[in-house]
Amino acid sequence: MANTRIYLSSPTMHGEEQVYVKEAFDTNWVAPLGKNVDEFEKSVAKYVGVKEAAALNSGTAALHMAVKLAGVKRGDIVLCSDLTFAATVNPVTYEEGIQVFIDSEPETWNMDPEALEIGLRKYNAKAVIAANLYGTPAKLDEIQALCQKYNVTLIEDAAESLGATLNGVQTGAFGKYNALSFNGNKIITTSGGGMFLSNDEEAVKKVRFWSTQARENCPWYEHKEIGYNYRMSNIVAGIGRGQMLHLDEHIAQKKAIYMRYKEGLKDLPVKMNPYLQNSKPNFWLSCLTINKGEKVTPEDIRLALEKENIESRPIWKPMHMQPVYRNNDFITAGTKPLSEDIFARGICLPSDNKMTAKQQDMIVGIIKGLF
Ligand SMILES: *Cc1c(COP(=O)(O)O)cnc(C)c1O
Repeated sequence: MANTRIYLSSPTMHGEEQVYVKEAFDTNWVAPLGKNVDEFEKSVAKYVGVKEAAALNSGTAALHMAVKLAGVKRGDIVLCSDLTFAATVNPVTYEEGIQVFIDSEPETWNMDPEALEIGLRKYNAKAVIAANLYGTPAKLDEIQALCQKYNVTLIEDAAESLGATLNGVQTGAFGKYNALSFNGNKIITTSGGGMFLSNDEEAVKKVRFWSTQARENCPWYEHKEIGYNYRMSNIVAGIGRGQMLHLDEHIAQKKAIYMRYKEGLKDLPVKMNPYLQNSKPNFWLSCLTINKGEKVTPEDIRLALEKENIESRPIWKPMHMQPVYRNNDFITAGTKPLSEDIFARGICLPSDNKMTAKQQDMIVGIIKGLF
């Protein structure tokens, strides 16, 4: 284990981040909100093509705000992606709503519109939360049309997919309310943070209000509603401003990594994570599934890589398989849950943009050695 650790996806800094952070120090605008927050919000909103954005301290907070704006209250049903990170769906519980999990489709691994329509017929749902896994856009146009047809609020969890597009439209612009994450391992990072995006300016105003403790416009502390401490600091936003200058570069690097895996692994009985021809993923994580009937398991790959000090990770364990959600309904359009199958046969490969071609070739070699 001589080599230095290769990560799944670690922060990549460039220098401008520190310039903006220094500016905040130099002007003593360390706190509260300030120029970095304003400029970071503007740059992301412009990039994604939405009217307004509110920088928050996590993507989970942005999703929570979205669920609140959708009016989810005790007992309300929210139809959610099944194959995702728990943070996509947990905010429903914060508002005492009930998640119903929707299976994946095979073309993007994301929410299956067919299963979604079954769910929309079965339940009088308050909202839909659709995630774009690993930077691959879901069938967002179909999901959006279904939400319109059934008059349900669409919340897009674009935490993993900043910069990805479907039909030329950025992810994070399809939902009525949209969430991004700048957690440490995402395509760009602020060390930790998130953003709420919407074309509804009143909604973004409300998020700014709720996320700063719901203080009424009074000299004293007057509260008519319950608030939260969810805002992003001006220091953290400085990192984000610097990172935005390199988002396209990160995406190009991630794409090159995906293509190199695809080429290197093409003779093995495996498939890379799929995407639609009319989409451009941001290729945040390269993943593969091992074909059915093979003896090699994802865990074999993970352990073989770990032995060489290389990080990889199982696919998200589906929400309907999580002990905490054992009583929630799950809807599939097929006979067997596809999300379970992807989880059983899939793995996220090291996708760090600082990984060299040589290191990647070594990873491909280790995987090939198992078959
Ligand atoms: C990272 C992530 C989140 C949560 O973002 P945080 O900033 O870590 O709170 C939500 N959903 C998905 C799909 C994610 O990958």
